[in-house]
Amino acid sequence: MLDSMVHDKCGIFGIFGHAKAAELTFLGLYALQHRGQESAGIVTSDNGLIRLHKGMGLVSEVFAKEEVLARLSGRIAIGHTRYSTTGASSLINIQPFLITNRSRYLAVVHNGNLTNSLGLRTALDAKGSIFQTTSDTEIILHLAAKSRKRTRVERICDALKRVRGAYSLLFLTENAIVAARDPYGFRPLALGKYYKSWVVASESCAFDLIGARYIRDIEPGEVLEISAAGLKSLHPFKKTKPTCCIFEYIYFSRPDSIVFGENVDKVRRRLGRLLAREYPVAADIVIGIPDSANTATLGFSEESGIPFEIGLIRNHYVGRTFIDPQQQIRDLDVKVKFNPVKGVLKGRRVVVVDDSIVRGTTSKKLVKLIREAGAKEVHFRVSSPPIISPCFFGIDMPTKSELIASYMSVDEIEKYLEVDSLRYLSLEGMLSMPSLPDTSFCASCFSGKYPIRIPPINGKDRLEIKSPGKIRS
Ligand code: SF4
Repeated sequence: MLDSMVHDKCGIFGIFGHAKAAELTFLGLYALQHRGQESAGIVTSDNGLIRLHKGMGLVSEVFAKEEVLARLSGRIAIGHTRYSTTGASSLINIQPFLITNRSRYLAVVHNGNLTNSLGLRTALDAKGSIFQTTSDTEIILHLAAKSRKRTRVERICDALKRVRGAYSLLFLTENAIVAARDPYGFRPLALGKYYKSWVVASESCAFDLIGARYIRDIEPGEVLEISAAGLKSLHPFKKTKPTCCIFEYIYFSRPDSIVFGENVDKVRRRLGRLLAREYPVAADIVIGIPDSANTATLGFSEESGIPFEIGLIRNHYVGRTFIDPQQQIRDLDVKVKFNPVKGVLKGRRVVVVDDSIVRGTTSKKLVKLIREAGAKEVHFRVSSPPIISPCFFGIDMPTKSELIASYMSVDEIEKYLEVDSLRYLSLEGMLSMPSLPDTSFCASCFSGKYPIRIPPINGKDRLEIKSPGKIRS
């Protein structure tokens, strides 16, 4: 994906029953860094003594000092790496959130986005609830604290019955972890084993780094309590048809992860293969937009027989907030990220594979660079259908009016990009590539049809205080 305008919300990781719980959580978050780069945090329980550290920046920056991790003692830990989809990117919104209620601790980390957060927060606010953050996740803690149920797991379930939307959650108590996934199963959450300890993570690549074994997914609608007594699985919600996010396979998850029970690399390759079958083209080489489209490009190459080449070199050291020091240099933002390999492209008929097109502005600049490098023809192939609607389930996307496919036809985009041909994978084709049935997936950003009602006020800043007294942190 070329436009840096689509971001996953977060990565979460938890471990129960290991003396090095904080260190292993740090490594797990490190593997999940691609899911959020704004802030990170870890909370631990050392026989009921709770310790928390969080800060703005990459996982390696927040936990740069050895003594920070050493201070996080205990055999139970949960951690979070954040990209915001509700609430500003600021200190107050860094997770884990930690509260005390009825003289007990409760901490939470969240990957997802609640669609009814504004209504719930307004109602809680009117009844005197005091909010510390502008994140939707805090609402879950308020609802759990207000529940009249007897046990904490019951109170968590009670709270979750009132929220709508996407959530993969980890709660930490003094002596347990509670993992929960919304009934639709929008975002992934996997269970693994590390020697005698249980681990939970957004993606299984976090298990690989520490040497843990993938066991299974936390099921949509499952609440799993992990304690010294072992695993206790509950299904407290009304059964719903799962709608897992198909975009996890297309772009968000790492290709080395198992997501929704299947290896991402395998699905991504199949998407590329199908793209080559649906829209064949006569060409000399096929190149991918690094790194996210590499796997689909390999699939395209295998199926079409067109040789795979490295035609673009990506600079991996471009900061998250690259500031163009010389605005007068045209297309510098793209040039600083990608450099075309002239020796590969010159005089060739080139197929360029990308996983998706969001606004199209960066794709246009890159096509120009490829042409300037001497490509004779440029054929653009996209391993997903046109994105026509934003996501409200934990992916930060531009508004509908900024999505190029929401206001241009494929022919118009082809002309805008100035390519010899542009083709997108079909919706039916995309949904048929994972092993799960095609009805198991959310494809709302491609179809415009949402599985749950989206309230009219749904922006990322919907919970921000709209007054002159806004807190800056
Ligand atoms: S709308 Fe798109 S990005 Fe969002 S959950 Fe559905 S498929 Fe995933």
